[in-house]
Amino acid sequence: MIEKLRIYNSLSGKKETFEPIEPPYVGMYVCGPTVYSDVHLGNMRTFMSFDVIYRYLSYLGYKVRYVRNITDVGHLESDADEGEDKISKKARLENLEPMEIVQRYTMDFHRLTEIFNMLPPSIEPAATGHIVEQIGMINQLLDNGFAYEVNGSIYFDVSKYNKDHNYGKLSGRKIEEMMESGRDLASQDEKHNTIDFALWKKASPEHIMRWPSPWSDGFPGWHLECSVMGTKYLGETFDIHGGGLDLQFPHHECEIAQSVGAYGKDPVHYWMHTNMLTVNGQKMSKSLGNSFLPHELFTGSHPLLDEAYSPMTTKFFMLQSHYSSTLDFSNDALKAARKGYKRMINGLRLLKEMEFVEDGTAKDEKSIEQIEQIIRMCHSSMNDDFNTALTIGQLFNLLKKINSLHTGQLGFDAIGKEVFEKLKSTYIDFVENILALKEEDPADFKKLVEAMVEIYREAKFRKDFEQVDKLRAGLKANGIIVKDMKTGIEWAYEE
Ligand code: AMP
Ligand code: ZN
Repeated sequence: MIEKLRIYNSLSGKKETFEPIEPPYVGMYVCGPTVYSDVHLGNMRTFMSFDVIYRYLSYLGYKVRYVRNITDVGHLESDADEGEDKISKKARLENLEPMEIVQRYTMDFHRLTEIFNMLPPSIEPAATGHIVEQIGMINQLLDNGFAYEVNGSIYFDVSKYNKDHNYGKLSGRKIEEMMESGRDLASQDEKHNTIDFALWKKASPEHIMRWPSPWSDGFPGWHLECSVMGTKYLGETFDIHGGGLDLQFPHHECEIAQSVGAYGKDPVHYWMHTNMLTVNGQKMSKSLGNSFLPHELFTGSHPLLDEAYSPMTTKFFMLQSHYSSTLDFSNDALKAARKGYKRMINGLRLLKEMEFVEDGTAKDEKSIEQIEQIIRMCHSSMNDDFNTALTIGQLFNLLKKINSLHTGQLGFDAIGKEVFEKLKSTYIDFVENILALKEEDPADFKKLVEAMVEIYREAKFRKDFEQVDKLRAGLKANGIIVKDMKTGIEWAYEE
């Protein structure tokens, strides 16, 4: 039984008991999307995992400041500081302002987070809104001797940093091996060493996104924004930093080096990484061309899909695996997830309407102990590094008890009011507030109305006027009126 929250920390490679720096406050930073194209389902898996983590921390009573940024500048096409800025490039190709690209994809991303029933973060800062602070941090790194200038660009000096610190401690890489593998590229680069990374890049004449700085008109390096915004909103050292596993190196490794280089402090206590959503075992990624967009799932329009899957089915599919395991995309798994989701939500509907009734059944200590045990296991599964997969299993165990109460197999008095209320609030809290699954409206409202109107027609034909009135009132309560026309019965929205 895990009483206290334990988190797998990528930095130590172990599960650790969670001890916030200043309880009950928790600072959590998650690298947000680069808003140059549609967010794919893999990206959503990562953001959804951190939404559940945020929700569970809040459920435990922590006051979480959750910062998730918007990357709207600096993310180049390659991790080796080469290629064009992703947003600049898209703007150039579409002949739009970069901020039009940013606006479009940020809004799309927000719409998706709502569809998936995710909470907004406490702060959602954008990199372009923090250029001044980024120049400030570069100045600090120059002053401390960890950065150098070449032709108006500034680079972080990894080998100098590594003399007294450990570049590679998060990703477990050895600096000598990294230097060796990058040797071939060295001649084409203005950096002293290929493992050095850009803090500021001088903009070429055709580069659209540029800001003045002491060194050149240019733009900040991608890793810098997260260090700057994390520090600004959460302090020089904060509790949790998250992102997908593919960001561990170089992005997060560089963030550590920047913070230690500028402020002499490790920026983060718990580094958390979500694993990848895969397609046939390969990471889902836009550049590999194997990505699924959420709306392709909702409409079933992707060639690899047998049919459409709703947002909550998709969410259930994601939550059925632990965030640190890879999850392979498959039609069979989605179909199973749809069944599971519906079972869980039927339980929710049932339970919300269920009230304790005295039925005079004899006290059943064994059932009470079983229910108490399942409730403890719901908590203990989430305390075990936010294991949503195990938690869902426990919720299904609880659901068996709920169904037994519903069918009368288990009496209310047998478990008593207190245990019943605890069962009820646990199930509702875990489903609605922690996993954040919600009831979905029927896929096709109009089909339901048509079916009701057909029953209305039959009732009218039978001259069953009591039924006719009931149906008319029921439809009206839902904004639909039925009209008896000469040509037959029609329906319309009530005006
Ligand atoms: P990006 O917009 O590319 O910076 O990615 C946004 C977030 O999605 C990052 O935290 C990535 O690590 C994460 N991510 C990218 N691909 C996947 C994937 N296939 N599965 C899970 N997370 C992913
Ligand atoms: Zn980041």
